[in-house]
Amino acid sequence: MNAVDSARMLSLLSPVSYRAASTLEEADLVLLNTCSIREKADQKIYSDLGTLRRWKQRRPGRLIGVGGCLAQQDGEALRKRAPHVDIVFGTHNISALPEMVRKAELRLPALALGMGEGIAHWDVVPYPPAGAVSAMVAIMQGCDNFCAYCVVPLVRGREVSRPAGEILAEVRTLANRGVLEVVLLGQNVNSYGKKEGEIPFPELLRRIAAIGRITRIRFITSHPRDLDDRTIRLFGEAGTLCPHVHLPLQSGSDRVLAAMGRGYTRGEYLAKIEALRRVRPDMAFSSDFIVGFPGETEDDFRDTLAVMEEIRFDSSFSFRFSSRPGTRAAGMKEKVDPREAAERLRRLQGRQAAHTRERLSAMVGREVSVLVEGSSARDPGRLSGRTGCNKMVNFNPGSGAGPIRSVRVTGAGTHSIAGEESGSDV
Ligand code: SF4
Repeated sequence: MNAVDSARMLSLLSPVSYRAASTLEEADLVLLNTCSIREKADQKIYSDLGTLRRWKQRRPGRLIGVGGCLAQQDGEALRKRAPHVDIVFGTHNISALPEMVRKAELRLPALALGMGEGIAHWDVVPYPPAGAVSAMVAIMQGCDNFCAYCVVPLVRGREVSRPAGEILAEVRTLANRGVLEVVLLGQNVNSYGKKEGEIPFPELLRRIAAIGRITRIRFITSHPRDLDDRTIRLFGEAGTLCPHVHLPLQSGSDRVLAAMGRGYTRGEYLAKIEALRRVRPDMAFSSDFIVGFPGETEDDFRDTLAVMEEIRFDSSFSFRFSSRPGTRAAGMKEKVDPREAAERLRRLQGRQAAHTRERLSAMVGREVSVLVEGSSARDPGRLSGRTGCNKMVNFNPGSGAGPIRSVRVTGAGTHSIAGEESGSDV
């Protein structure tokens, strides 16, 4: 979501004569688009702002702006803690950015933090990177779930869905520009349109799948409670729907899931995975985990490991619980000892690394279709891209042309696979 918002910022600033600088020294304006999901992200921003104070002092007229979730969360307090910041704008104020930059150029206060239901910012089209074959499309913003640990509803606001007509128009425009893959974004895509009486999420997917030239559709993030049968069935019907689902589990313990307010049990989660595997046996799964949630016992944690063993996720993001201001979990008393939480995280990540290796190794010898994203970061002579099941592939190009290549997998690494182009386009 922040990546799309950053693209919007670029898009808005180009008519007022700002373009992306290639180095910090060359820049006149630095915008930090921030995250506040964990305390560590907060700390990093304040540390970066310390570095930028010196950058600003080196040349008069330089400006610093801070937007995104931390700006929304800390607001005026951010200005007090870092008085050299010129512009502070919240998650619902991106469209005010050109005006705020102009104010800051005139040394006038530039602060915009208003947030209210119905304020959306998708009227600003993201800056289109030239030659991009994959694009992110925001379909909703905010969240109404208020999971006990999560700051998102407080900093991104309540859930608002974008009109389906606008989404379809944007996807058609992207398709006409040569984009082959769209990634639909929202905090809880499965509840798309429910509040507004829009078409349901699976119907939106079906209509996007009917747009010619779009060959891959992905979406993130799904909520296990709201992922419905119709969407699951669609994976068996629409070949353009990529066989990968990111389904955050957070914990394998029903007791902890209830305390988190997630709205599903371990059994219900497993049933959704099973249903998805029935319609697409090749489906890849990724997930999110929080370890050391207040009150989590060793037995609760073992329940999480047990679910991991059963599902064997292709990948996951896992973190120690981080207390966020204003959330219910911040007030929970039974904190887990940080050393114990760190040890649990180490054990969980160890299991995940083994499962990821297992999933990647199982692909060796197979022929996969890869959407090329560019040159490999480590070896510019090789190409890099993703399979439909979201595996990163680095491969030696053959005689093929175009962004979609057929690759024979020859090896598996820790996070990616390697291969040789088989010569024919898929
Ligand atoms: S559903 Fe996701 S974004 Fe919404 S409150 Fe829960 S964790 Fe946060």
